[in-house]
Amino acid sequence: MSPRFFVEAPLAVGTTTELPAAVAHHAVRVLRLAAGDAITLFDGSGGEFAATIASLERDRVAVAIASFDAVEREATRAVALVQAVIAADSMDWAVRKAIELGAAGIVPVIAARSNLPRNGERVEKRLAHWRQIAIAACEQCGRNRIPPIDAPVPFAQWVEREVNGERRAVLAPDASRSLASVARESGVDAVVVGPEGGFTDAELALADRHGTVRVHLGPRILRAETAAAAALATIAAVAGDAA
Ligand code: SAH
Repeated sequence: MSPRFFVEAPLAVGTTTELPAAVAHHAVRVLRLAAGDAITLFDGSGGEFAATIASLERDRVAVAIASFDAVEREATRAVALVQAVIAADSMDWAVRKAIELGAAGIVPVIAARSNLPRNGERVEKRLAHWRQIAIAACEQCGRNRIPPIDAPVPFAQWVEREVNGERRAVLAPDASRSLASVARESGVDAVVVGPEGGFTDAELALADRHGTVRVHLGPRILRAETAAAAALATIAAVAGDAA
């Protein structure tokens, strides 16, 4: 597969376009691409374009767009990851793996035990960073649509904002039912993962009152980010495109 790049502007077959500076830098300085090399571009509206590097001069890269392929690599079953905000590196890992595993979107939630920087500006910065990770993961894994990552909201707010018909499963190690059995029997549209210290009893009770089902992933306690990846893989294995 040729290197894939996301370009925010709409793309069209038969045109020559200049790659945005950051994309050009990556193509030239990191991947060491040269004139004549084949690349793939996508603009997020679906499908992808085959292109060739036409000319390159320092970090200015012109590419000729040759053809369009309407291919989609979205999961057959759309599942959102609702992830309690966790330590920066772990959250980055969870976001990247969730996108690779086909998550339809990510909703970061602030749980009682989430460790968040107090100042709002930093949360905004982290959100922008997660969106960049989502783009890089789509470039890597072949998805041609960038899944949305919401601005973080308090966990209670997400729980109370019920979405008609959305089947929600909260990962809780001592749940009596397994995620696989619930996914098989009734399906799961949103899977919720707690922070490093887990959800509080009050948070789990609130989720129960709003029709969320508690599920476990087996007898071992996984790190939060591992649990997120394992949960998405489990749902894909039971009911999705890995089934
Ligand atoms: N001591 C905490 C463990 C937290 S692990 C507790 O008892 O809750 C971090 C998060 O990962 C949990 O909140 C849960 O959502 C998820 N998780 C980890 N291992 C799991 C398992 N075996 N089953 C279900 N959820 C799990």
